[in-house]
Formats: sequence, C-alpha cells, structure tokens
Amino acid sequence: MTQPRTFRIAAIPADGVGAEVVAAGRTVLDALAEDSRGAFSFDWEEFPWGCDYYAKTGKMIDDDGLDRLKDFDAIYFGAVGWPNVPDHISLWGLRLKICQSFDQWANIRPVHFLPGVQSPLRKADDTELDWVVVRENSEGEYAGLGGRNLSGRGPGGEVALQSALFTEVGCERIMRFAFDLARTRARCKVSSVTKSNAQQYGMVLWDDVFKRVAQDYPDVETESVLVDAMSAKFVLKPEDLSVVVASNLNADILSDLGSALAGSLGLAASANLNPERRFPSMFEPVHGSAPDIAGQGLANPIGAVGSAALMLDHFGLPEQAARLHKAIQATTAAGVLTRDVGGTATTEEVTKALIAHLAD
Ligand code: ATP
Ligand code: MG
Repeated sequence: MTQPRTFRIAAIPADGVGAEVVAAGRTVLDALAEDSRGAFSFDWEEFPWGCDYYAKTGKMIDDDGLDRLKDFDAIYFGAVGWPNVPDHISLWGLRLKICQSFDQWANIRPVHFLPGVQSPLRKADDTELDWVVVRENSEGEYAGLGGRNLSGRGPGGEVALQSALFTEVGCERIMRFAFDLARTRARCKVSSVTKSNAQQYGMVLWDDVFKRVAQDYPDVETESVLVDAMSAKFVLKPEDLSVVVASNLNADILSDLGSALAGSLGLAASANLNPERRFPSMFEPVHGSAPDIAGQGLANPIGAVGSAALMLDHFGLPEQAARLHKAIQATTAAGVLTRDVGGTATTEEVTKALIAHLAD
C-alpha cells in the first residue's frame, strides 16, 4: 500500500471576498480528502496578513513571514487590496512580494467555458472553448524599475519613469514552459503576444527568443500577435487559441478579458508556479477583493476552487483535480450559480453543490 500523503498548505485569505472564497475552497478540498479514505490529507495553517493587518501593524506581512511560508507544500491565496490601503502598497507588500521572493516565474490562467454559464461571446454557445494564458511573472512591466520626481525632463510638473525589464533567460524559460504545456493539450499551438512594433527593445528581444525557442519544438504550431490584435482575437476567433504566452502586464489584461468572456471574473483560476520547486507555488483566483460584494455571501467560489484544482495537479493528483473540474461543470450545468453569472445562489450554496457533485 502506498503511504498516505499529507500536504501542508498555508492559507492567506487576505482581503474582502478573499476570505469567503478561500473558506469555500478549503471546505471542498477537505471534503475531497475525507472521501479519499486516508490516501491523502491537507494540513492547513492560516495567516492573517492583508490590509486589516496593515492598518493594525503597519505591515502587509510579518518580517519573518516569508521564512514561515518557505517550507509549505503550497500557498492558497485569496485576494489582496482594500480601499484603506493604496493598491500599490498592498499588492507589492504581500502578493508580489511572495511571487518574487519565491521565484514564481510562471503564472498560468486557464480560460474555461462552463455549461450553464452565459458568455457574452455568441460563439461559446456551440463551440467548445478553452485556452490558457501563460504569464511571465517575474519581470517585464512589473519589474518595479523606475522612479518619481525626475526633474528637468518634461514640460514642467513632476516626471515619473516606469521601465520594463526583459532578459533572455526570463523570456526563454517562460516560452519553454508554454511550449511544453502546448504539447500536453489537444491543440498543439503557442501564440506569443507583444507590442513589439511600438516597444522596440524588450519586446523585440521577446520576439527573437520566441523564434529561436520555437525551432526546438517543430511539432508545435506558432504565431506572434500584437496585443491589440490578440484582444480582438479573444473575442472574434477564440477557437484558434490554445496556449497564449505574454509578458506580465499584457497577460494580466488578457486573462481578465478571457475570464469575462467565459462569463465572470469570479470563474477564473490561476497558479503562480516555481517550476523548479525550490519554493512553494501559490494558487489564487484571478479576481480581486471585490469590495462591492464582500461580506455578503455573494462571491463566486469557482475561481478559487479551480485554483485548488491547479494545486492538486501540482501535488501530482491529476485525477483528483479532474474530479473538481467535473464537480464545477455539474454545478454550473445544474444552474447553481452566483449572481455574477446570472443566478441567485450564495457562496455557501455553490460550495455545497460542488461537494455534492464530487460523488458523481
Ligand atoms: P484587483 O485590482 O485586485 O484586480 P479589481 O478592483 O480589478 O481588483 P475585483 O475586485 O476583482 O477587481 O472586482 C471586479 C468586479 O468583479 C467587481 O464588480 C466584483 O464584484 C466582481 N467580482 C470579482 N470577484 C468576484 C467573485 N469571486 N464573485 C463575484 N463577483 C466578483
Ligand atoms: Mg483587476
């Protein structure tokens, strides 16, 4: 008999609906573990970091926080940001700090269309659509390079500079990741996204590396598309997409577009991976803290539960991840939907339906 496995997970619900959807995801995962009759289990530790913590302590995360996280098997994250703290402070102080410190350089954001969920895309009614955005998560436009109060360079008033960093190593590793992922999918294709006609240094390097890496994957179909054209393609020709690889900012924007096309931001899952597994990877829904609906039991937990499925894949439990995906599909097909996708169900009702459908 194989040894039962216990996965140690650090839960960081953080702000707003983050707490509600992380609680939902934990409940679903614990139900899955219980059903495994001891084959695997989850050992959770929850951390209180976020904007409330900042208001009380002046810190988004404790000074020894990263040290306390580093030996977990994974981090399960909610959402960061609240009106009481400037967004750039909360984002850099917690989420980006974890991503960068733990070298989570690959961010994957699948776009799934679900039965029973209305998409603004007419095509989604009769075409099976699913693609995955692979986001470079360590450099690019979010490298944090620049400064304010640069005098003497403009027509007057303050001048600020925000630079993007592109390295050959950074580009190459995310592209190889995207090509390897494409090989596991029915449609073996990688679309690379830039704005290299207007941004003539970093993004031209990106294009050059893409062409070179593509030569090692002759079996994979490729295309290079400008980000403006790719935005249109998401809407007009989504059946032509499989793996979309893009820089930090472009992929962030495209993945929000993708989840909105699938029906709601509340549906979208993501994984911030340290593919070398030297540090824990982090799994989180794409959406933010949603102050407009927080605390009302209205949050859609599917993005967080889909992120839990990505975590199960990472743990080497793909058949369990598939069970979660099936439960998600059965739940939406049965019309158990939160308000953002046109229903009236609460977070708790969707969570209960997901657990009930694990038995299907
Ligand atoms: P961030 O800057 O952190 O990305 P944001 O302000 O861009 O945050 P969200 O907080 O994600 O955006 O909210 C955008 C919209 O999507 C809001 O109207 C919010 O209510 C809705 N939304 C986000 N997450 C969910 C969810 N899980 N369920 C239902 N609606 C959601
Ligand atoms: Mg946003």
